[in-house]
This record gives sequence, C-alpha cells and structure tokens, in this order.
Amino acid sequence: MDKVQGTEEIELSGIEISANLHAVRNRIDLACKKSGRDPGEVTLIAVSKTKPLSMLQAAYDYGCRDFGENKVQELVDKMDKMPGDIRWHMIGHLQTNKVKYIVGRVYLIHSVDSLKLAKEISKESVKRNVISNILVEINIASESSKFGTTTKEATELVTEIAGLPNLCIRGFMSVAPYVVNPEGNRQYFAVLKQLYVDIMQKNIDNTNINILSMGMSGDFEVAVEEGATCVRVGTGIFGARNYSIQGQGEQ
Ligand SMILES: *Cc1c(COP(=O)(O)O)cnc(C)c1O
Repeated sequence: MDKVQGTEEIELSGIEISANLHAVRNRIDLACKKSGRDPGEVTLIAVSKTKPLSMLQAAYDYGCRDFGENKVQELVDKMDKMPGDIRWHMIGHLQTNKVKYIVGRVYLIHSVDSLKLAKEISKESVKRNVISNILVEINIASESSKFGTTTKEATELVTEIAGLPNLCIRGFMSVAPYVVNPEGNRQYFAVLKQLYVDIMQKNIDNTNINILSMGMSGDFEVAVEEGATCVRVGTGIFGARNYSIQGQGEQ
C-alpha cells in the first residue's frame, strides 16, 4: 500500500491493532455499564495522525469506520487512499485558508474555535451546497497552549454561529489537560457536560446538539462516565507517535 509522506515510524501489526481496539472498546463498554449508559451512545474515533495507511487499514478491517486526523493535508491524502465508507473527523486546529479542502468531505469538524472560522466553513458550504456538521471547541481548563473558546463565551459563540447558513452545530469538543491520574480531569468533563445540556435545552435554531467529544487515551473512561458521546483515541490503538519525523503536529 502507498505511504503517506511523513508517516514512516514504529508499525504495530494488524493483530496488535485489533487487540488494542478490542481492549479500548471493552473499557468504553465497562465505563458505560458503571455509569448506567448505553454503550451504543459512545463512538470510538481512531485517531490515526502520523500513522501509515497499513495501520489505518488494519483498524478498518477490524470494523472501525470513524477516523480522526489533525492536519488537512494528511487527512485528504489518507481519505483519497482509504475506503469510501469511512467517517473522517477533523480534530486539529483548522486554518481558514484550508477550509475549502475539507468542506463536503469530512463527517464532522470538531475544532471550530472562532466566529471567523465558522464564517469560512459556512461560506464554503454554501458554495458547495452542503450542510457542514461542526462542534465548538472549548478550552476547558483555560490553558494558554490550547485552542478553543472559554466556557463563559461558549453560549454566545454558539448563538452567533447558529445564525450562519449551511452549518449545523452538533455540540462541543475539548482537549482536557494532560494528567497522570485521569480522575484529575473529571471536574472538567463534568463542566463540559453541563454546558452541553444547557445549550441543548436552549433549542437554538440550526443546532442539533447530540455530540460531546471528550476523552483521549489517558482519560477516556472518565470522560465516558461523565457523558462523552465521542472519544478520540490514538496512542491506545496505534501506539506512540513519533513527532521527530513530521515536527510538532499536535495542538
Ligand atoms: C492526538 C489527538 C488525540 C488522541 O490522543 P491520544 O492521547 O494519542 O489518544 C485526541 N484528540 C485530539 C484533538 C488530538 O490532537
């Protein structure tokens, strides 16, 4: 299979990837059981950034249909080479000048963090006659290193974005702080869940709030217990990433 540039690194076998997917899914299901939730409510997104197509294909063969990428170029390269029934999730910081490459092609944009970006997605969606599903990214712990709006400004931003044509706001996304003990993020996940419920109850036009994207390899069980409907897991499925190859890729 073709290589996508910048993805040469430690490769896990198909068997290892299947075993990891199986284990992660089991842990999600257990977290659901523990918190009285239906496991069918939680989508596992396989975050495949920096990983080669052979590893994505292994996850696909296992049954995975939701993949997350954080860079536009890598996302479209992989999209062109993988099966057409995959739901692609744009989870990384998105620059307005790159919006045109993904509108109409991705299933969900998780990382809308400004009105300016939303306007560009709206404009491009009108041009292509599509409705783009988006999440508003929240910087839940107000970390200077992270993108996203504040919890305080979230409602106002959602209201403004909801006025734009050809967009459907589906909920919120957040990248919680890096913690050694995942319990440390429970408070943040709970705040985000509350924000999500509040905005849902406002019934704003052009919104269909039913997606809460939170939880990564280090803390997805706690996120599920607190109400995540999407968890984004990379390392836990595909192993560690090697950034020395392609430079800093994470937000
Ligand atoms: C890389 C990334 C993930 C996955 O991180 P892991 O810790 O490897 O599971 C999830 N969400 C976003 C936005 C990311 O950039």
